[in-house]
Amino acid sequence: PTPAFAGQKVFITGASQGIGAETARFFAANGARVVLNGRNVKALETVLASLAQVPEGPHLITPADVSDEKAISDAMAKAISEMGGLDILICNAGFQIEGPSEDFSVADFERVMGVNVLGTAIPARQALRYWLKNDIKGRIVVNSSVHQIIPKPGYLSYAASKGALGNIVRTLALEYASHGIRINAVAPGAIVTPINDSWVNDPEQYKVVSSHIPMKRPGQSAEIAAVIGFLAGPASSYITGQTLFVDGGLTLYADFEKNWS
Ligand code: NAD
Repeated sequence: PTPAFAGQKVFITGASQGIGAETARFFAANGARVVLNGRNVKALETVLASLAQVPEGPHLITPADVSDEKAISDAMAKAISEMGGLDILICNAGFQIEGPSEDFSVADFERVMGVNVLGTAIPARQALRYWLKNDIKGRIVVNSSVHQIIPKPGYLSYAASKGALGNIVRTLALEYASHGIRINAVAPGAIVTPINDSWVNDPEQYKVVSSHIPMKRPGQSAEIAAVIGFLAGPASSYITGQTLFVDGGLTLYADFEKNWS
């Protein structure tokens, strides 16, 4: 059978590790040509080497900081020209800064918003321009977080940025629905990736984190990549503007499990 994404060209931001790298492997394994964005060329080359080859041509690396308007716009233009098109954009790059909210620094706050929010909106803008000009029914999948709706004390800018992504997805979806362009988000719960090294590598903390999740375990990057694939593929052809929570039940108010009254 033809692989699900054969002939499709996919641009993934923040693909040097974690969920982005796993998503790249998912799309390549399903026949797509993949463009890996990130900042660390060595790390991107390692991910590149792990991708399944596809007959349509090589996968690419386009390093750029997603919050640098010129750098990421140039990277996308280069990718579109070298791949001969773009069908799917995955806005995955993101990071967080911890600290008590009464002491947040404006520079740190702007950096998180710059990467997580503008670093989504700018690549989305570039893809939309290309799709509108060429009459392509493209798809964008944004990597949000359960912290789109769950408060995250000590991470004010991260919580603000993920909240913003929910309405960015809804606004873009409404604005471009009539063109057949779909924009959705995935909202992961606690996933085993380098962003969570602090508890992933600490058996005690790993247990504590797991105990708060109704399914009693963190998720794996592959469990997010598969849902990103669903939202970017034909099985979700009538879905737009939605955020799909993939969190082992984390957003279900776990304390109510025992039905106390
Ligand atoms: P990660 O730290 O392993 O990966 C983040 C990726 O983004 C890396 O490749 C990093 O290099 C890249 N990146 C960061 N800043 C960048 C920039 N300015 N320009 C280009 N690339 C940049 O983390 P992850 O867990 O794989 O996170 C991926 C996304 O998933 C993030 O948006 C994160 O907020 C979200 N998320 C993760 C979890 C989780 O539990 N791991 C939960 C909810 C949401």
